[in-house]
Amino acid sequence: VRLTVIGCGTAAPAADRVGSACLVEHGRARALLDCGPGALHRMAALGVDWAGITHLLLTHFHNDHTGDVAALFFAWKHGLRPARTQPLDVIGPPGTGALLERLAAAMGDHVTDPGFAVRVVELPVGGDIDLAAGAHLSVGPVVHSPEARAYRIEAAGAVLGHTGDTGPCDALAGFLAGCDLLVAECALPDEEAWEQHLTPASVARLAQRARPRRLLLTHVYPQLDRAGLAALIRGHGWPGETLVAHDGLVLDVGWPARQGVG
Ligand SMILES: [Zn+2]
Ligand SMILES: [Zn+2]
Repeated sequence: VRLTVIGCGTAAPAADRVGSACLVEHGRARALLDCGPGALHRMAALGVDWAGITHLLLTHFHNDHTGDVAALFFAWKHGLRPARTQPLDVIGPPGTGALLERLAAAMGDHVTDPGFAVRVVELPVGGDIDLAAGAHLSVGPVVHSPEARAYRIEAAGAVLGHTGDTGPCDALAGFLAGCDLLVAECALPDEEAWEQHLTPASVARLAQRARPRRLLLTHVYPQLDRAGLAALIRGHGWPGETLVAHDGLVLDVGWPARQGVG
């Protein structure tokens, strides 16, 4: 299982970090997890095969996670020669199909009629689905917007967890227990803590309970110093390996671990 961070940014625009998006690859599955503003062009800049994405996974509907969804469909419909024929699965919370229809009403029918088959799968918390042979996705609870959720992907003995956006959530640590790689949002400094986002202290508490082999922090707002973040997490009581995401970071999930370039 390979993770490529496409965008590790937030609602606040940043020169070096576009909106939330990452690519999860295993076998023939190439799943884009969220598609925030800037993600489409960042994929091109990173040499990511955006044309070959097999699944679009949405953690929730906030604009910083969905802003390039319509643009990605437009690129699939009008930016490829020969045209794409490969079907696509869109997996997200209940309301995902309605979101695509609203995007189509606003932006054009490329979203709902891109020229290839689109299957929308709306999963409740507790739901699960096979992404490809041997790659299984399950859906966990978070505290954020009403539809928001976390994902856990297990493939070939490797476990990748992603919090999406969340505040402190008792049920989340159990859902994400024992990940080889836990991608966790760490949005705000503890001085600005609020119930819908994590902070260094609450991420450290999550890690203490979920005990990931590696922790990758993303979705960090500008007021939180990324250079000192790993040390801050250690100071809050999580001694495990902690990385801070940057756009283009590639990580292989599972053993042996290998950190890529970018
Ligand atoms: Zn959000
Ligand atoms: Zn967000």
